[in-house]
Amino acid sequence: MFYFQDPSLLAFQKRVQEQIHRNNLTTQFSVGSIPSDSQLRDVLDIHDYGPLLAVYRQWFNRLQRSKQLERYRYFGDRYLITIDGSQYFNSEKIHCKRCLHKEKSNGHTEYYHQVLQSALVHPDRREVIPLAPEFIRMQDRSNKQDCESVAALRAINKIRCAHRQLPAVIVGDALYATEAVITAVTKQRFSFLLGVKPGSHTTLFEDIAGFRRGGLLDRLQKTKRDGRRYLYEWVSEVPLYATANSPVVNFVEFQIFDAADKRTRHFSWITDLPLTKETIEELVRGARARWKIENENFNTLKNHGYHLEHNFGHGASHLSEAFFVLNTLGFFMHQIFALVDGLYQAARGRFSSRQEYWNILRASLQLMVFDSWDHLLTRIHDPPLPAP
Ligand SMILES: [Zn+2]
Repeated sequence: MFYFQDPSLLAFQKRVQEQIHRNNLTTQFSVGSIPSDSQLRDVLDIHDYGPLLAVYRQWFNRLQRSKQLERYRYFGDRYLITIDGSQYFNSEKIHCKRCLHKEKSNGHTEYYHQVLQSALVHPDRREVIPLAPEFIRMQDRSNKQDCESVAALRAINKIRCAHRQLPAVIVGDALYATEAVITAVTKQRFSFLLGVKPGSHTTLFEDIAGFRRGGLLDRLQKTKRDGRRYLYEWVSEVPLYATANSPVVNFVEFQIFDAADKRTRHFSWITDLPLTKETIEELVRGARARWKIENENFNTLKNHGYHLEHNFGHGASHLSEAFFVLNTLGFFMHQIFALVDGLYQAARGRFSSRQEYWNILRASLQLMVFDSWDHLLTRIHDPPLPAP
């Protein structure tokens, strides 16, 4: 159902009633019989989906072993892993024991689900490789609510457990630029590249203002062909906070000016990677790749076919999260196809939008029975011509 991005469990069930669709489920997925929609929800709600999360690691490792991830190398032999939080469900009526909740000003309680999604990205590549999601939730055996920065610590430890030797740079927004996250990242032998803001890192920006007045910032300027000017400024080994135990970081500020010299973009980051005239441009490109997780991952999942925010059913314990995991697993597989599968790429190449492509794939399954996934893709790519 999620593999083919069916919009609802009911629509999926309805299709299963038709013989052609049922046969396709057997040929494509070796499915024998399909339980009813309520049975399906009950089963998913009771059972822990935990073992499914291992699929992310297994397929990541397969990509790595077959050298498919070489294209994602960054800053020498490293990889970029972005982490970002997102809300995918909220309601005043429906809730489960995993829901987070907050009291609203009108006295009502709002229930919601949030998740921290990590992904391998590269500034030059469209495809992102999602890692296992980390849910932000009511913690078991306690009444304490979780929060994004605590979930980030768990996510960082789990990424290291799943990928013991992966040299990676953790990329995140200013929410993660804290002593706790930097300590966890460093302890797990990762590097970091994190956003900082004057509002949340006051003393750091005061120090930078001082360095700027004293002419102590390193600078590099590049004028692009379209007349835009890129200004890089950086300084190494500054304290993040005005405390004795503060982490010491390298700081970089990046500004873009248009042809009329009006500033159009402005970013600041901290990192432990070395900053020099030779490395600064690659570093900034990596930091800016963070938007990819928002654009390519969450945006595609929410707005371009995966119905991530649709409530397929909420359940009492595992269901809401299980649906999220199954949905992103579908996305994960499709990203892998886009990266490595020539037939998938060729068939996709016949359509301008991915939604149109998947509409045709879904529609085809209702018209005829295909022996296999490859058979389906071959027909989409090369439809038979009418006999002369
Ligand atoms: Zn819930």
